[in-house]
Amino acid sequence: MHELSCPSCNAPSQYDLKDHILMCPFCSVSFRLNMENGKKEIYSDHYIVPNACDTRQIKNIMYEWLKRLHHQADSVDKEYYITDINGYSIPYWIISLEAHTMWKGLVRKPKGLMEYNIASNSIQETGQFRRNYRWAVSARSNICERWGMTLLHEPKEQLDVTWDGFPLDSTLSRGRIEMNLGVKKSKDSENEELSAYDVREFFEFKYANGLPILTIQVSDEEALRRTRSHVLEYHHKLARISVDVLIDHRTELEIAGIQLIHLPFWHGRYIYQPRSLLKHFHTPKEKNVILEGYSGGILKGELAIVKKDKLWVNAIICASLSLFSFILGILWHGAFMLIAAFLLIVAFASGYMAMQKAAPRNRLDRTTFIQEGSTATAAKTEKTS
Ligand SMILES: [Zn+2]
Repeated sequence: MHELSCPSCNAPSQYDLKDHILMCPFCSVSFRLNMENGKKEIYSDHYIVPNACDTRQIKNIMYEWLKRLHHQADSVDKEYYITDINGYSIPYWIISLEAHTMWKGLVRKPKGLMEYNIASNSIQETGQFRRNYRWAVSARSNICERWGMTLLHEPKEQLDVTWDGFPLDSTLSRGRIEMNLGVKKSKDSENEELSAYDVREFFEFKYANGLPILTIQVSDEEALRRTRSHVLEYHHKLARISVDVLIDHRTELEIAGIQLIHLPFWHGRYIYQPRSLLKHFHTPKEKNVILEGYSGGILKGELAIVKKDKLWVNAIICASLSLFSFILGILWHGAFMLIAAFLLIVAFASGYMAMQKAAPRNRLDRTTFIQEGSTATAAKTEKTS
C-alpha cells in the first residue's frame, strides 16, 4: 500500500499500486497512475449499477426460489436453512461491440433427396449472422475468487460455454422471481423496463449501498483481448450449430466502446435438512446461489437434491428389497428369487447412473469449486466503502 494524494480532491489515502485503476475513497474519482513519471490521469468512463437489495430481501428471494423448486412448498421454511449471505460490488469491463460471422459448411441432405445422387449425401451451404453485445469481462485478477462467477453466460442455444465473459443485458435480466417483497423498484412502473446498463450512475461509493467495492486489477487492453477470444469462440460454436460439418468461418468484430462498471452481486448459501425418510440418505452440505443486486434475479443456483441423490435413494431401496425377496425366495417360494434378481438389476442401474451424474460436467465449474475455499479469506479483507 502506498500513500497518494487524489488528483481531484487532493486528500491523501492508501492505494495498492498493483490495481489498474485507483478510486479515491473521499470523492470517488477514478484515476490511473503512470508508474514511470508518477502522473495521475483521471478515468471518467467508470460507472456503477446501484445495489438495490439488502440481506433480508435476498433471504426472502432465496426462500421463494426454493419454494418454487420444492414439491412441498410449505416444508421449505422448516427444512432449508440459509447460512450465509454476502454482497459485493464487482468491477467489470463492458465492451460494446458488433460481431459479424460468415460461415460455410456441409449439411446432410434429407433422405428423399439422397436417392438422386448417392455419391454425395451432403450439400454445401453458406450463411451469416450479426449480433450486438455489451460484453462483460471481470476486472478481477482471479475470476474464481467467488463461487459461480466463472460461468454466468447461459446462451439460448445448446452449446457448452467455455468462457467466463457474458453479455450484460441478457444475463442481468434473467432469473427474476415475480413477487411482492418490496425490492426497491426504480421510481415508477415505467422504469421497470430499464436494464441494469440503463440505470448505471457515474461511479460513487454511495451507490454500492453498503456492499464492499472490489478493486480493479485488470487492464482494459486485457479485457479487450479476452472479449475478442470469448466472442470468437462463441460465434464459432454458433456457426457449427447450423451445419453438420463446418468448412470455413470468419467473425469480424467492431468495437464501439469500453467502459468500467461496478455490478452488484449477492452470494447466498443454504443447507437442506430433510425431515422425511430422505434424511437417512442425505448428508447436509452447503449449497450456493448467485443473485444480482439490481433487481434480485437468481443467476445461478445449486439444488439441494439433484437427480443423483434420488438415484442413490432408489438404488438403496431396491437393493434392500432385493435382499428381502432373496430371503423370501429361500424360505418360502422360488419365484421370489426372480423378483430379487430384477430388483438387484434396477439397484445396480440406479447406482451406476448416479455415479455417472456425479462426474463434473465442466472444467471451469470445477476450478471454481476448488479455488473458492483457498481465496475465501483473501476476499474478506477487501476494502469496504
Ligand atoms: Zn478524491
